Parts: sequence; structure tokens; C-alpha cells
Amino acid sequence: MTPLEAEALRAAGAKRPRRWRRTAALRDLVRETTLAPDDFVQPLFVVSGDDVRRPVSSMPGVAQISTDQLAREVVELRGLGIKAVLLFGIPASKDAYGSESYADDGVVQNAIRALKDADPELVVVTDVCLCEYTEHGHCGLVDEDGTVLNDETLEHLARIALSHAEAGADVVAPSGMIDGMVGALRSALDAEGRHDLAILSYAVKYASAFYGPFREAAEGAPAFGDRRSHQMDPANAREAIREAALDVDEGADALMVKPALGYLDVVRDVRERFPELPLAAYNVSGEYAMVKAAAQNGWLDERAAVLEVLTAIRRAGADLVVTYHAKDAAAWLQRGP
Ligand SMILES: [Zn+2]
Repeated sequence: MTPLEAEALRAAGAKRPRRWRRTAALRDLVRETTLAPDDFVQPLFVVSGDDVRRPVSSMPGVAQISTDQLAREVVELRGLGIKAVLLFGIPASKDAYGSESYADDGVVQNAIRALKDADPELVVVTDVCLCEYTEHGHCGLVDEDGTVLNDETLEHLARIALSHAEAGADVVAPSGMIDGMVGALRSALDAEGRHDLAILSYAVKYASAFYGPFREAAEGAPAFGDRRSHQMDPANAREAIREAALDVDEGADALMVKPALGYLDVVRDVRERFPELPLAAYNVSGEYAMVKAAAQNGWLDERAAVLEVLTAIRRAGADLVVTYHAKDAAAWLQRGP
């Protein structure tokens, strides 16, 4: 070996990334992204009635449950280390104005009280939108042509948020992509002295095909048309920054990108542009259903796939992940490799 060859080998030898991959302990030591049960937010679909636990067929492992089942649910979640839930309500009846959405004894308001009775420490986040409560299934009031009205809807959203605050919610999460929704909620809450209540804005929500199974779970499919007049075009990333910036200006305390998996570039963009705010990503129903279906067919190792998906969402920059995999993932993390 010539001195030159020896030098070349030494130089190559100095750059061997595999040294950190040799054992599990070495890999653990240098891991950049971690997952923990308290990064997860568990969505819950609450229905009226007693003793209801109705499985959602397109989301194996997910069920609509009645308020009296929530205490049991909380024990299970807290036992797994999950500290936050995102509430969706399926009302007993729907009308053109979604009246049950702000009723004091509405399904979500009752659920908030039941959750807080069961565990005052649990973080209760509530979805603030009209789609589950209106006959037409749209995220706002609509005119006779079926157009979703913007400014007329704001007052309604504020009323819903106030009723959630009154019932004891910790965080309200407006999800309808109605312009001005964060500002409307903030001023309504502040006017009632609820300066303490945080707003997690679904700031960047795309009109996605991956919401399909959710519509079965939340019974909120639009009766006509679609949501492309308010939700974002999947082709747009720069617009996401504009949407997020508006919500930050209006007083959002945290931002969300939805869906997560096909939009990790957007998660990263929003993370970098707004480093001062917590960022959530919603690992949506279709993303969940795909993994479940493949796992049930034996085409994927479910545990490995789920932990990889959740790690990828966190690696892209999300602080918290709203996911239907929360309980399974938390159990796997508790048990260890
Ligand atoms: Zn909606």
C-alpha cells in the first residue's frame, strides 16, 4: 500500500455513519426524534344515548361512544399516558342552523362535563364547526344556492366556542376554514372574560380525499357539493403560510396542519415559519384506515408501520399528533421494543 492509498483509506474510515447503527443502544443514543404518549391527542366521537359503543366500520378499533362511557375511556387513556382528547359530537337531531352545536345540554357540552368529572387534569380540546350539526353537512350557514356564507357563520362559531368554554373545555379548535374564525372566537371569548382559553386553529386544512372514513364516524358528509370552497387545494404550499400567518395575527395559540402524511412538507414549512407556536398535525381517518386495512390483510407490520408514520410526522416538525392510533401506539411505547 502506498502512503497515498493508506491516506485515502484513513479518510474513508473517518466517515462511516454505520458506526452509530451497530447496536440498539447506540441507535437509541443518537436518535433525533422521539415519540411519547403525551405527544398524542385521541379523537373521540360522542353520541347521545346510554351504553352506546358503535364501531365505525371503515375505522377498525374506533367507535362512537355515549357520554356514560367516557369515564371508562378516560381511565384507559390516562393509564396509557395519553393526556389529551379532541371531541367531536354527533347530535341527536340536525337542522339548518346546527342548533345543538351551542346548546348547553348538547352532546359535546355534556361530554366535556363528563370528561372533566372523570379527570380534571385531562386536556379537553373541542372541535368547533357546524358540519356535524347541520342537515346539509356544511361547515357554515349556507344560502339558497348552497354557498357557504362566511361572515354570517362567524357569530355561530363564536357561540359554539363559548358554550364549550362554559362547559369546561381547555382548548377550542375551529376547523371550518372560515376566514376570520380565529379572530371571531378570540374576541368572543375575551369579551366573556375567557382570556385563559387557548385556540388551536385548523389553520391549514386541505380538501382531502383522506377524510372519507371520518365522515362515517362523525356522520357529517355534505348532503350536496363538497368543501373545496373553503378547504385548501392540495396543490398549494405557499398558501399554507398565508393561512397560518392570518391565524397567528388573529390570535391563534397553536396551529394545525391536516392531513399529516401527504403534507409533511407543509408541516415543515409551517414549523420553520412559526417556530414560536406549538404545531399539531392531524393523522386523518383515511391515513389510519389504509394502515389498518393493509395490516389486517397481513401486508404490513402494523406496529412498525404506525410507529414509523408517527415518527415521520414528529420529525417533520409537529409537536403534537392527533391520531386514531394513539392508544395502540402508547401501549407499544409502554411495552418497549
Ligand atoms: Zn366542518
